[in-house]
Amino acid sequence: MSTDQLKIPKATAKRLPLYYRFLQNLYQSGKQRVSSAELSEAVKVDSATIRRDFSYFGALGKKGYGYNVQYLLSFFRKTLDQDELTKVALIGVGNLGTALLHYNFTKNNNTKIVIGFDVNKEKIGSNIGEILIYSMDELEERLISENIQVVILTVPAVVAQQITDRLLKTNVKGILNFTPARLTVPSSISVHHIDLAVELQSFVYFIKHYSEEETDM
Ligand code: ATP
Repeated sequence: MSTDQLKIPKATAKRLPLYYRFLQNLYQSGKQRVSSAELSEAVKVDSATIRRDFSYFGALGKKGYGYNVQYLLSFFRKTLDQDELTKVALIGVGNLGTALLHYNFTKNNNTKIVIGFDVNKEKIGSNIGEILIYSMDELEERLISENIQVVILTVPAVVAQQITDRLLKTNVKGILNFTPARLTVPSSISVHHIDLAVELQSFVYFIKHYSEEETDM
């Protein structure tokens, strides 16, 4: 997100991509206006929250008129830096890494994995999902020359920290950590941890213990 923009609350910022995706669909279907009630129904965020979120951008919908879809869309595009491609590197081209390379966030046109790294000789030099895989020996050099600021880690947990330490010598500012390892980083680097096993386990626990009460409510 652009730094010269007003600081909006983190919770609002998190919802922006959600709004953006929905507004894109609306725009493509030719809709010019949307009410906060319609938005609320589609993105499952209550309309008071939507109105508050939008007030941070100075986008004030008129009663009975709603918001102008095109205006909102161009605002979000700028705010989310949609016009600027964020290049991402993926380290560890195993099962999960390969899946992510094939997926490659094509629907999210502002982020793209552009390079992969691995230690496995059979993978180095190959193209996976049209992305070239390089040796870990070239990690720092390639990340710097491509000016990569975001890295996805899909390596075995035991090597996650040592790879993270190497990233400190590059321009990397964010790590999307898919390994179960808890990483230690300086404050200049943000880590977002996605542990699929933990997510699944807590979800199963939730379904077993809470879902009935929820549906009874
Ligand atoms: P696979 O079936 O291909 O081994 P996996 O996801 O089950 O995949 P993992 O052991 O989790 O296997 O390893 C993920 C990937 O990380 C593999 O491609 C492996 O070669 C790679 N890898 C292992 N150690 C390192 C390292 N130090 N640096 C970079 N990549 C590594």
